[in-house]
Amino acid sequence: MSEGLIAPHGGTLIDRLAEGGEAESLAEAARSLPRLALGARPLSDLEMIAVGAFSPLEGFMTRRDYESVVKDMRLANGLPWSLPVALSVSREDAGRFEGKQVALTDEGGQALAVMEVEEAFEYDKRAEARNVYRTEEDAHPGVAALYAQAEMLIGGKVRVFRRQRHEDFLEHRRDPKETRAVFAEKGWRTIVGFQTRNPVHRAHEYIQKCALETVDGLLLHPLVGATKDDDVPAPVRMACYEALLAAYYPAGRVLLSVFPAAMRYAGPREAIFHAIVRKNYGCSHFIVGRDHAGVRSYYGTYDAQHIFREFAPGELGITPMFFENSFFCRACGSMATAKTCPHPDDDHVSLSGTRVRQMLAQGEMPPPEFSRPEVARILIAAYRSA
Ligand SMILES: [Zn+2]
Repeated sequence: MSEGLIAPHGGTLIDRLAEGGEAESLAEAARSLPRLALGARPLSDLEMIAVGAFSPLEGFMTRRDYESVVKDMRLANGLPWSLPVALSVSREDAGRFEGKQVALTDEGGQALAVMEVEEAFEYDKRAEARNVYRTEEDAHPGVAALYAQAEMLIGGKVRVFRRQRHEDFLEHRRDPKETRAVFAEKGWRTIVGFQTRNPVHRAHEYIQKCALETVDGLLLHPLVGATKDDDVPAPVRMACYEALLAAYYPAGRVLLSVFPAAMRYAGPREAIFHAIVRKNYGCSHFIVGRDHAGVRSYYGTYDAQHIFREFAPGELGITPMFFENSFFCRACGSMATAKTCPHPDDDHVSLSGTRVRQMLAQGEMPPPEFSRPEVARILIAAYRSA
């Protein structure tokens, strides 16, 4: 499987998916176990753990890992890891589940996995908010989700015997072992991952292509897990990516695949997390733009780049590629950034996010230097039918 690709985080691609006879006996055992229904985020986490996207995690975090991650951005064994992957339960369930096996179910009650609940523990939500999100304000969507969690955490390994059923983007769903197989088959050794939860405009296209000039392939990996209600819906974004790739990218150099993680909006900490997880999918490089995974004004524009300095070179394994805000410059006659263009702002075609949304909602095409018309048309149609 390696074929010269980067090793997974911690060295081994974790596989917590049971198959065949093992899956049948787990499903049978699950019938008589106490049950815990998972909400959207833990359900997404369960899938990410099962397929190895969260390697080296084999389950939800126990206290030592949880506390070490919150405080030091490392698992208890010292390996970098920036976001808690924790499962909250009521105090009553915590007492009932500790030291036992529990069947994890989806929201409809369908059993998916067996968890060995190693321990149940208290946690400090405010400390997690401060350390992970850099704010205790519940106006931050990640903090609000944290405060809404139940009062205890349970940690322990999981074994998944039934995959969560997905009905959308089936042709673009690939587990880490599948993206790795595609990369190996294409003969790519260096791959740059691009995280997005937004439509791709010229600015993003430019930095993707700058990165692609120096590596073998691009993994365009849009997040389709739980997001805020005001983010552009995933099906619209996917239609935009498909139109953009068909018209402007060499087919043999790009893989479009969905990233089923839930969004936490943790800014800098989430940038590290996104990089580590993409390494598990086989990426050697990862693009970190301005305000990566941020929300409103909680983080400085380049905080998500600066945080990478807190790790020694090579500790993360994956190489971050940092980009500044880019724009079309009429004087340069090309896309550029402050690093490459000496001209004043008047020469730059730049529009605020708010202005672009207004234009699209009114059926007005943004300038072609800002958005590809193929993308703008899809967004206009989506705004009009909303
Ligand atoms: Zn210029």
